[in-house]
Amino acid sequence: MPNRLRFAPSPTGALHIGGIRTALYNFLLARQKGGQFILRIEDTDQNRFVPGAEAYIIRSLEWLGLQMDEGPVSGGLYGPYKQSERLLMYKDYATKLIDEGKAYYAWDTAEDLEAKRQSVQDHSFKYDASVRTHMKNSLSLSGEEVKTNLEADLPYTIRLKVEPGQSIIIQDKVRGEVVFDSTELDDKVLFKSDGFPTYHLANVVDDHLMDISDVIRGEEWLPSTAHHVLLYRAFGWEDTMPTFSHLPLILKPNGNGKLSKRDGQKFGFPVFPLAWPSDNPAESIEGFDSYGFEPEAVVNFLALLGWNPGTEQEIFSLEELIANFDPEKIHKAGARFDFDKALWFNQQYVHKLEFSDAEERLRTQGQALGFDLNAGDLVGAFRLLQPRVSLLKEIMPLAYYFFTDSIEFDNEEINKKWKPEVAPVLEKVADALQNVEPFNFDVAGAAAKEMINSSGVKMGLVMPMLRAALTGTMQGPDVFAIAEVLGREKTIQRFRDFAKR
Ligand code: GLU
Repeated sequence: MPNRLRFAPSPTGALHIGGIRTALYNFLLARQKGGQFILRIEDTDQNRFVPGAEAYIIRSLEWLGLQMDEGPVSGGLYGPYKQSERLLMYKDYATKLIDEGKAYYAWDTAEDLEAKRQSVQDHSFKYDASVRTHMKNSLSLSGEEVKTNLEADLPYTIRLKVEPGQSIIIQDKVRGEVVFDSTELDDKVLFKSDGFPTYHLANVVDDHLMDISDVIRGEEWLPSTAHHVLLYRAFGWEDTMPTFSHLPLILKPNGNGKLSKRDGQKFGFPVFPLAWPSDNPAESIEGFDSYGFEPEAVVNFLALLGWNPGTEQEIFSLEELIANFDPEKIHKAGARFDFDKALWFNQQYVHKLEFSDAEERLRTQGQALGFDLNAGDLVGAFRLLQPRVSLLKEIMPLAYYFFTDSIEFDNEEINKKWKPEVAPVLEKVADALQNVEPFNFDVAGAAAKEMINSSGVKMGLVMPMLRAALTGTMQGPDVFAIAEVLGREKTIQRFRDFAKR
């Protein structure tokens, strides 16, 4: 049987990176096994539906390069892939369980249930075998009453009839053997009075009908898995039940609890893949994309948040992740989110970028900054500054002196270090560079240094001023590396102008 894996998010808002990691692990295993990666939208909770969330999820997967084989956009043989478009079917499955005595109608109102809850010590009321005979349902009411209720179209829910005293054993690929006792479980609602199935019913029915072979999801779903196994049993589908892997939490940077959607604003880093702009600035969300991350770096970073192949290797292309991924090596303990580490990963990818990968973004940014991009050597600037940044977007602001002749000088710093005897040396260096061939880092650099040495003024006084002359500041790449990109004419001009200041 081919491996079919699904990512099954609920469109309740922007997808947090924990969700993205879940999608990624599903994708990796599907690709490794030559199977399918499926997107299924679980939109059965009307109260939590957020417009735009589905599109956001799809754009996020596309941005990260996690190509879907089946889903709401690409379609497929197992569609529809949105649960709200499969409603009638769930009802049939729930009714089938009622007919077989494995589920029942319940007419308890929200008020009835609340009253029960209040009447129980510590309010831990559980609708189960021990109480169901005292409640309003098709197991406790007479046949006549049931018929009347159904004919009167009284709103009902359908509940799973959980038989106590059964043990439920799950072989989780991450957690190992997990055992539940059905006596602890409630009679879960499978179908709601609003005509929608609950997550539990829809999830199990769809995993079965879509031939899902492996379920990889967050550990918050582990307790629900007990009910899911009971549902597989009730439907007689236990033989084709998928394997389960429940992923550890992603923790806050300090390790104290789960990384939440609000932590992004709190700690000042993105926790979402893509930005989610809003007219209300307080509600706008920053994404790894708007922060300037390369999608390949985000994939690499997330893959290692809770899994590693047991070697020292940290940089993995998507192909290498596909080849190496092993669900059995997913960690049990939560993974601490470390933003500096995320930046480190991005840096590795930025350093590997070809100019052609970066050109369009550099140009757009340069234009936005008002640079005259024809005035300077964009490729040279990129190559020079690339090793100095973690995010591609840091390059253009650093590169401004290549694209303008009106340099802004950091006078405060410059004046602290300026010695009048440096001025004639700058002129002499300019003279020396007039005829060096070729005008590059090595040859121009050697000629300038020779001139400085023979001037008797300390190298340590002159060099920072050469850099200041070219860039306006005291920091930056090697002076002659800058000079090479800037070209002979501009370099000489800037040295002379600076000498006259
Ligand atoms: N709809 C659930 C969620 O939003 C899916 C859980 C699962 O994968 O079974 O996470």
